[in-house]
Parts: sequence; structure tokens; C-alpha cells
Amino acid sequence: MEKLKEATLYEKLENKRVKCNLCSFHCTVEEGRMGICKTRANKNGVFYALSYGRAYGYSIEPIEKKPFYHYKPGSKVLSFGTPGCNFSCLNCQNYFMSQSTKEIENAYREVKFTAPKEIVTAGENADGFAYTYTEPTIFYEYFKDCVEEQIKEKKEKFNVWVSNGYYSKQLLNEIMKEKKLDAARIDLKFVSNENYAKVCKASLKPVIENIKGLAKSKVFIELINLVIPGFNDTEEQITELTELIKGIDKKIPLHFLRFYPYYKMQGVPSTPDETLEKALKIGRENLEYVYAGNASIKGGEDTHCPECGKTLIKRRGMDIIENVLTEPFCPKCGREINLII
Ligand code: SF4
Repeated sequence: MEKLKEATLYEKLENKRVKCNLCSFHCTVEEGRMGICKTRANKNGVFYALSYGRAYGYSIEPIEKKPFYHYKPGSKVLSFGTPGCNFSCLNCQNYFMSQSTKEIENAYREVKFTAPKEIVTAGENADGFAYTYTEPTIFYEYFKDCVEEQIKEKKEKFNVWVSNGYYSKQLLNEIMKEKKLDAARIDLKFVSNENYAKVCKASLKPVIENIKGLAKSKVFIELINLVIPGFNDTEEQITELTELIKGIDKKIPLHFLRFYPYYKMQGVPSTPDETLEKALKIGRENLEYVYAGNASIKGGEDTHCPECGKTLIKRRGMDIIENVLTEPFCPKCGREINLII
């Protein structure tokens, strides 16, 4: 029987209550209860990370699948997540993993315990590790121990998050200070707080603040935006989103993705090609690297030099057809490209 892992970044309050400072919900949790993510429990005034070590969904896959197009293109990652999530998105593609802790009591117990050492062994043939499928914030202690184990075993691997970006200030500071995270692909879902509340039961501001924070740090970031008909697909909304990112840094890669009806949003149609083409056009007017994914939009997955327009990387879905970059500079005009080789 594995020992329960005490949570990080929490405070002990009066009457055995605790306050979790891991994500921007800052849950105050009574003795015997759990936080919103239902992965952290207060047992007798001590807070525990219940899903620690309960990794599942393993697969070695191209980093382009996450999608990361500008971080180590062509590399392979070992992907995995643990049950639970701090968000409750109505359209979650991994709801059977992310929402399991909210729907089934002690859902994490149904997943075999995997020690960080075993994760490192499982990733032997990968170039790095992707903490994904569910929000890595809620298994932050596990992430840290997996990286510690790589350091101990002198493995030169990288570590990336696929994340909703809802960190607390404390977590953001720790991520930047500890330098264990190499890159994060953050989902900037809406520019409207109302939609964040309606679709994810969360809010916009912390996501923006964390993108701004990471953009100034050594953590490489890419953004995605799922274009959902009737929620964020108008010209005005797309313009507002891309201008907002431009105000942070126009070099941040942005991926517009096609929405498919799923989970509790079965009644919303999938995104038409024309909408993605419009998003790509508006995005490329404001930002240097914009893509359209989950779709076959001509040239929508290729990287071009923002200076001279030369095609640098040609892609089809997860496959790289051609890559002329051997260093992060355009071979034609010498312009520096925001990309980690
Ligand atoms: S991680 Fe977030 S949702 Fe979960 S207990 Fe902590 S503050 Fe609450």
C-alpha cells in the first residue's frame, strides 16, 4: 500500500481546515472534504494529493500531437495524465479521465500506482515527457518527483505540460524558480469571462496573468484556441484574441483548432473550414506563427518565416514533411525564429 503523498502549496487554518494554493480556485477545505478538483483531500487537518502516482493513458507520440510545433519539432514524448481536473469543461475530450474524480468516489484507486522511477523507465525511448490529458497542476507533486528522478538518473529529457493555465501566483512563481518545466502548451479558451464561467466553471484573468508570466520566463509557450461555433468564432472575437496575444508577445505560436461536438456540448456543430480559414487570416495579420489544426486547411500547419515568408517547416497533421531548420534562424533571410530545435 503506497503512503499518501502530502500536498504542496497549502496552508493549515483553524479547526483543521486547509487552504490550497495550487490553482486559482484557492479552495478552503473542511476536515474530511476535498477541493473542487476532487483529487486533494483534507484528512485530519493534513492535505493530501490523492491522485499522486496514478498515471494512465501512456503513449509515446510525436510532440506535434500535443500540439507543439515550435518546441523540439519531430521529437517523441511519453504522454500520460492522472485522474481529475480543476476545470469542468462541457466539451472535454478526456472527460472520462478528467471528470472521473467528480463522478466516481475515489476514482483514482482504479488506476494502478506507478512510481516516478517507473515513469522514467517507460520513457526510455522518448525524448521527453508530456504531462497531459488532464490538468498537470493537479498532479504537480508527481510531476516534480518524475523530473527529480530523471535528474537522479542523469537522463537528458525535457518535460512539457499541456495545460489550462489556471495556476495560482504561488505555483507560477515556483514553476519559474524551480526550472523543472521546459515548455507549456496553454489553452486560451475564450476572451470572455462569461464563456469561461459558462463552459469551464472558471475565469479568464488568471489564465491571462499566467501566460504573461510564463512569456517572460524561460518556459517556452505555445497557445491553442478551440474555435467553438456560437461561443468564440466571430471576426470580432478572433481579432480580440489575437490582439490580446500580440500585446503579450506576437512571437508566441497560436493554434486554432476545430471543435467537434462532444461530452455535454453535443448540440453545438463542428467548426466549418471557412471559420478556421478566417481565424488563420486574422491571426496571421496580428501574430507571427499561427496554425489551423484538426482540419485540412491548405498551408494551415506550415511554419513560415515572418520576415521573408520562406516555408521553414511543412506539416501534414502530426507528420513533418519537410524541415529546413538546423538552427532557429531563417536560412534565406537570417531572421531569428521563435523555435527550440
Ligand atoms: S488544485 Fe485547485 S481545485 Fe484542486 S484543491 Fe487545490 S485550489 Fe482547489
